[in-house]
Amino acid sequence: MKDEGREFLWRQLDQLGQMIADGLADESDGKWIRQQYRETAIELGIAKPSDFRKPRKNHSKQINDFMAERVKVVKCRKCGGELVQSRKGSLVADCKSCGARYKLGRRGRK
Ligand SMILES: [Zn+2]
Repeated sequence: MKDEGREFLWRQLDQLGQMIADGLADESDGKWIRQQYRETAIELGIAKPSDFRKPRKNHSKQINDFMAERVKVVKCRKCGGELVQSRKGSLVADCKSCGARYKLGRRGRK
């Protein structure tokens, strides 16, 4: 794949991830967002189809995988620094540079 293609996919992944974080994927007509996110992540090679088929038992593993992907594409909105997951199983990420906190996702659906 060409670099431009990958660049596009990264942008798309970031936008879709933001939509998921905003809760749009939890709307009744928002199912395509997660699906598209998965397909994009798989196409970029940062996730395998099997990553999304795991049983729900180990939820924190899913969160950690999700966060590992998200911090790759999301940067600090204040200083542009890299984000790191604040602790295992958490949906919160801290900026390495300025310490700003970001919630990068939502826990399941209610
Ligand atoms: Zn920052």
